[in-house]
Amino acid sequence: MKTNYFLPFVLFTILLTFTAFKSDAKPPKADKFIIMIDPGHGGRDTGTPGTKRYRTTEKDIALDVSLALGKMITDNMPHVEVLYTRTKDVFPSLNDRANKANTDKADLFISIHCNAQPKGGSAYGSETYVLGTTKNQQNLEVAKRENSVIFLEDNYEENYKDFDPNSPESMIGLILSQEEYLEQSIQLANYIETEFQVSANRKSRGVKQNVFYVLAYTYMPSVLVELGFLTNKKEEDFLNSKKGKNIMTKSLYNAVKKYVDARVKNDTQDIAILVDQPYVEKPSAETRIIEGVTFKVQIAASSKQLETKPYNFKGLKDISREKNGRIYKYFYGQTSDYNVINTYKNEAKEKGYKSAFIVAYKDGKKVSLAQALKSKAN
Ligand SMILES: [Zn+2]
Repeated sequence: MKTNYFLPFVLFTILLTFTAFKSDAKPPKADKFIIMIDPGHGGRDTGTPGTKRYRTTEKDIALDVSLALGKMITDNMPHVEVLYTRTKDVFPSLNDRANKANTDKADLFISIHCNAQPKGGSAYGSETYVLGTTKNQQNLEVAKRENSVIFLEDNYEENYKDFDPNSPESMIGLILSQEEYLEQSIQLANYIETEFQVSANRKSRGVKQNVFYVLAYTYMPSVLVELGFLTNKKEEDFLNSKKGKNIMTKSLYNAVKKYVDARVKNDTQDIAILVDQPYVEKPSAETRIIEGVTFKVQIAASSKQLETKPYNFKGLKDISREKNGRIYKYFYGQTSDYNVINTYKNEAKEKGYKSAFIVAYKDGKKVSLAQALKSKAN
């Protein structure tokens, strides 16, 4: 699929841009944890009308809860920036929604919806979806309904020619390309469903998997929440009430906070600084590029998966992360110049990473520093 090949290229370009213009000031939001909230449907796409006893439909409830959630996050979590795919009764395409989240480099994507059953169905309860395949008929119906918005869009044949959820084979590549985010998406989905069940005292129908367009094309952890069934009278009354919306918003907020707290370091004790034998060599003032070798400064290791943003690393930018077994290692900088990496190491030490040390990679493989320095220098 075209998109799958395109993404690494985009990421590489972004990386190049950041490396090449390291001294340029980044927009302030780059230092924040960004959450993109996506109120489902909007404009001419009303979503499910429910029992039709209300003038409001799915799109209205989704927007109310989304805006309330965003406000609660903004008011209480200063290190988080909230963005929306829509804040009014308008109709962004599914394509636009995913693109916006990718362009704005969101760290998390939450799509908010309400569920429906065919006439006569009395199902109720919440569901939270992550990307995946399913053979369960009810799950398939939900995805079909939420994806069908596509057909309301102009030029849908052109825009979505690569997307065919009815062909599991064609979806496998798409799902694989999102695999790295799946674990985190499931974690958030679990927090959300637990909150609905325990704090909100609602019926949770659990965490489920399916192919939703907005989940498949957002390159970050992402979930799609079905707050409840508008085709169930009692649940429709609840979700239309101010009290009901408040309860659901508070539960979503608790879950998001739990998720973000696990990724944003609030407590410096959480990172165990590795005490390793640092390689000591006095750097000369000249450039010392070792061809084929990449140096990085290892600053920390932890069982916690943290966002590689400056607020987690005493303001240091250009942080990368690597997973080794159950431990995440965190690195500062990357360069082929041994002298440059030494200045990075000193900078990291000054910031408080007292045991920071240089690591080296040759042709993508980790090698000892001594080995790397023996390579032919330019
Ligand atoms: Zn929906």
